[in-house]
Amino acid sequence: MSILVVGSVAFDTLKTPYGVREKILGGSATYFSLAASHFTDVRVVAVVGDDFSADNENVMKLRGIDTRGIERASGKTFHWGGEYGENLNEAKTNFTDLNVFESFQPKIPKEYNDSQFLFLANIQPELQLDVRNAMNGVKLVGGDTMNLWINIKRPELEKTLARVDILLINDGEAKMLARENSLPRAAKKVLEMGPRALVIKHGEYGATIFFKDGHHPFRAPALPLDVVQDPTGAGDSFAGGFMGYIASQGELTPTVLKRAMFYGSVMGSFAVEKFGPERLQEVTRKEIDERFDLFRSLTHLD
Ligand code: AMP
Repeated sequence: MSILVVGSVAFDTLKTPYGVREKILGGSATYFSLAASHFTDVRVVAVVGDDFSADNENVMKLRGIDTRGIERASGKTFHWGGEYGENLNEAKTNFTDLNVFESFQPKIPKEYNDSQFLFLANIQPELQLDVRNAMNGVKLVGGDTMNLWINIKRPELEKTLARVDILLINDGEAKMLARENSLPRAAKKVLEMGPRALVIKHGEYGATIFFKDGHHPFRAPALPLDVVQDPTGAGDSFAGGFMGYIASQGELTPTVLKRAMFYGSVMGSFAVEKFGPERLQEVTRKEIDERFDLFRSLTHLD
């Protein structure tokens, strides 16, 4: 099965306790696609500027990702600057230069029309909604957002959320979106905005899925890692593992969803081991499955 993702393809300038990197490949759609490509076919809709090189695009192509939906516009590629202190769970945004994303009108190649799954990675909510509206035939829609859009584009975001089946956000964003301090109450309110399920990511502490239909929530741990060099993209990689695994199974049973939570954690854990999306490019299916077993042994009593 195949997933279409719309989101940012970007350059990131990053500072972590492990070092500094200038204008390296990043973006929500980039991390998502690389993570999901280990499970299923991925197609990307995004825009880049004329500073985006063939080598940059090849990072995705080498993983078999369909990049025909990445438009080249004149101007500069989206550029995000962020840093992390000793608390690696929280990114501080230094700048967000939307550049070519400011005037982007998503165009979906006709070859993408038969995609069964859709993921609205973090990008302006109006762009997410455009793509959502153009893809009415999909089986399942996942989505993400961030504090910036909750703050400055709440009405637009609420329209998008009404058309999303599974929303994946972090705990701070869930509380901000719901204007609630308690996580279960925040989850209930967010689910009332549209999604059938809500995955709340807790950074290095794992993630919890809440359901609208009254099913008990389910928590997946995060693997305690010796070294976290760069937390950028952990959330998008979680989403890529989660959605990629669901698409590879085709049906949405509670067991598939629970396993998807584990595969999400697995891909998030690889993403943070090195700067940028490097680790997601080189990791093998064998390493992914071995780490899945580690997660299993972390939580199972016998
Ligand atoms: P994550 O660490 O998973 O939350 O996502 C990090 C990625 O999100 C980085 O590679 C950034 O390029 C991208 N990003 C940051 N801010 C935005 C934004 N406002 N819109 C779209 N993508 C963004």
